[in-house]
Amino acid sequence: MLQREKAMKFKESVPMLSVQPKGKQKGCAGCNRKIKDRYLLKALDKYWHEDCLKCACCDCRLGEVGSTLYTKANLILCRRDYLRLFGTTGNCAACSKLIPAFEMVMRARDNVYHLDCFACQLCNQRFCVGDKFFLKNNMILCQMDYEEGQLNGSFETQVQ
Ligand SMILES: [Zn+2]
Ligand SMILES: [Zn+2]
Ligand SMILES: [Zn+2]
Ligand SMILES: [Zn+2]
Repeated sequence: MLQREKAMKFKESVPMLSVQPKGKQKGCAGCNRKIKDRYLLKALDKYWHEDCLKCACCDCRLGEVGSTLYTKANLILCRRDYLRLFGTTGNCAACSKLIPAFEMVMRARDNVYHLDCFACQLCNQRFCVGDKFFLKNNMILCQMDYEEGQLNGSFETQVQ
């Protein structure tokens, strides 16, 4: 299946839980005030107001953008900023150039591609998520070129 996704997988992610406070009121690790809200966030073994758990870079409320935060070098970050700051890269299987970790990529089998590079290597047709494409000898092919190749007996098996 052709997938469009972030280039990288990474490990410094921390789950956030939205919990209902029970027992003694908890203090917020962000502003040090007591949390009187109906829900609070639990992350990094601390409790937070939903308003106080924010990305150190873009100030977005992390509880709103997902259920995971990223932490490194004492910074609490959203996924986007984490990738921007600390992401590592892979190489595009078509042009062999590095792909910055925050860029969207196309992933086909074990290969990743720049979105711009993911095209039929014979006719340059682009593909969208879910489109049919074929991989032959590590060449990306559209259906037409693939079928033509098959008619000419150039290749045999269908990949996807
Ligand atoms: Zn707070
Ligand atoms: Zn951010
Ligand atoms: Zn490329
Ligand atoms: Zn083609």
